[in-house]
Amino acid sequence: MNRTRRRPRAHSTSPSDTVRDRLLTQLRDGVAALTSSDRWASWLRVQARFHRYSFQNTVLIALQCPEATRVAGYRTWQQLGRQVRSGERGIAIFAPIRRRVEVESDDDDCPSVVRVLESFRVVYVFDIAQTDGPPLPAVTGRLSGDEPTGATARLDRVATALGFRVEVVNLPDGVDGSCSSRDGVIRIDARISAAHRVVTEIHELAHAVLHPNGYAGTPRPQAELEAESVAYMVAQHLGLDSAETTFGYVAHWGGGDDAAAAITASATAIRRGAAVILEALNADQVADAAA
Ligand SMILES: [Zn+2]
Repeated sequence: MNRTRRRPRAHSTSPSDTVRDRLLTQLRDGVAALTSSDRWASWLRVQARFHRYSFQNTVLIALQCPEATRVAGYRTWQQLGRQVRSGERGIAIFAPIRRRVEVESDDDDCPSVVRVLESFRVVYVFDIAQTDGPPLPAVTGRLSGDEPTGATARLDRVATALGFRVEVVNLPDGVDGSCSSRDGVIRIDARISAAHRVVTEIHELAHAVLHPNGYAGTPRPQAELEAESVAYMVAQHLGLDSAETTFGYVAHWGGGDDAAAAITASATAIRRGAAVILEALNADQVADAAA
């Protein structure tokens, strides 16, 4: 009789679960530390200076300056410590002109004053690329440097195993990657560093695993927080620390002070996303060793 020694059964909490829990705690603590830091506070102050433009103005900006990433008025740029270069042409948008009118109220002695839209006037704004000055405070820097050896090739094979094709192309400024489940394509910006590509590719793979219906299935803030949390865990596993880019990204999409709680609320999805990608990575390594 052929006897084989049976390996002890895995406990319900396997070591990898413990590692994942530790990484999740590390992420939560890192994000909480960031959102209570001066760096976060100064970033928030700058964010508050940027206007949320109407749909119409967003279209106007895109038509006149398709590469625009951060747009503000001349004086706002000055207040942010940057100067619009002389000769730069402004981007024309519409600003509402409102008039104060008194309206009758129940209290005769004290009429209410409301502001009603009267007309629009054209104002000019400028993209950050048209300005000079010190960089704005940032909390989501891109990683620089090399990848852990072979990481990208392994992630490409994971993408294939999950039914996705990876394309490296020039994406619009500020976009590092994208994932289309419908087309089965993950796109990565060609200009980012090898290290940043690793984190981006895991982030997009996490979207592929967790958000097959895109933002229709999961609201964008939650989807971004989950994908980037998975990226942090898997990158750590591959020997890359993405704290410099991940903590700010997660804090931003998680709603600042609420981010740590949002990570807890999404913990099940984050663990699942990390588990699927790590299993695919491990299977790939086993196949690689056997080849
Ligand atoms: Zn994303």
